[in-house]
Amino acid sequence: MTAKLIKGTEIREEILEEITAEVKDIKEKHGVVPGLVTILVGENPASISYVTLKIKTAHRVGFKEIQDSPSADIAEEDLLALIDKYNNDDTINGILVQLPLPKHIDEKKILNAIDPDKDVDGFHPVNVGRLMIGGDEVRFPPCTPAGIQEMIVRSGTETSGAEVVVVGRSNIVGKPIANMMLQKGPGANSTVTVVHTRTKDLAEHCKRADILIVAAGVPGLVKPEWIKPGSCVIDVGVNRVGEKISEKTGKKIAILQGDVDFDAAKEIAGSITPVPGGVGPMTITMLMRNTLKSLKFKLGIQ
Ligand code: NAD
Repeated sequence: MTAKLIKGTEIREEILEEITAEVKDIKEKHGVVPGLVTILVGENPASISYVTLKIKTAHRVGFKEIQDSPSADIAEEDLLALIDKYNNDDTINGILVQLPLPKHIDEKKILNAIDPDKDVDGFHPVNVGRLMIGGDEVRFPPCTPAGIQEMIVRSGTETSGAEVVVVGRSNIVGKPIANMMLQKGPGANSTVTVVHTRTKDLAEHCKRADILIVAAGVPGLVKPEWIKPGSCVIDVGVNRVGEKISEKTGKKIAILQGDVDFDAAKEIAGSITPVPGGVGPMTITMLMRNTLKSLKFKLGIQ
């Protein structure tokens, strides 16, 4: 059996088209578009490339987009003042502070200073709490878990009553996706197990999973014999395992591998996400969706 591929690149296109249409509609009816500010401190090359992609995507879907790029030596209080400025800017619906921040800045303090109603990354404790309560309380589900749930739903996978096993308990992937899948509601209603480094028998838990979500950051951690035949496998892991020369650009690029032994797993699973091209493209897409959602909340058109 060869599993159906759940391609993030295709689902991203579908969702971005939906967002673009909705932005156009809101602009016609209300005369406004979502506003996103990206704050990039310093010149970390990886951060620059992530932010560039976010900006490009924001333009594509018709958002107002502002870039603020203070130098790496900005004082913490000046960065807090900058966030305050955008908290009070009515044309801005989403504030994104690209991480990591320079060492002299307290990351937690900065993220907590963002108005929770503009926290489109969903990392503010208020939004973490809202996510935990679930239902109508949820404002901004964090982007990677939101992307994972969207892929599960759009691939036609039944979640109600499904055994979901999440490998990893980080605040940005494992914990929130586990929480989202156990909520009462569409795309959820699952029975969820979270496994981690202290779990006694990882394999036994994984074998029960109708939906296996792996976010450990360990290349090839999940072995093919751990996969339940016909199950849905979401591989969140992005691991740099080497370098190669790109045929397209002639430049050196990273060889990426997931946490699941993909070639063997695809012969057992019913559906599976590839790495790259799986969960990766979904994160920025969901950031756009959260920013649109923020404007809709403000306009009262949820
Ligand atoms: P993390 O290091 O914060 O957390 C990893 C978790 O996996 C931990 O809770 C740990 O207990 C668990 N773990 C690690 N090794 C394990 C093992 N051998 N057995 C069982 N559990 C184990 O990582 P993270 O930020 O959650 O990211 C996980 C992976 O997902 C990384 O490869 C990261 O690059 C990737 N990621 C991808 C995206 C995306 O595609 N958009 C976004 C976020 C993270």
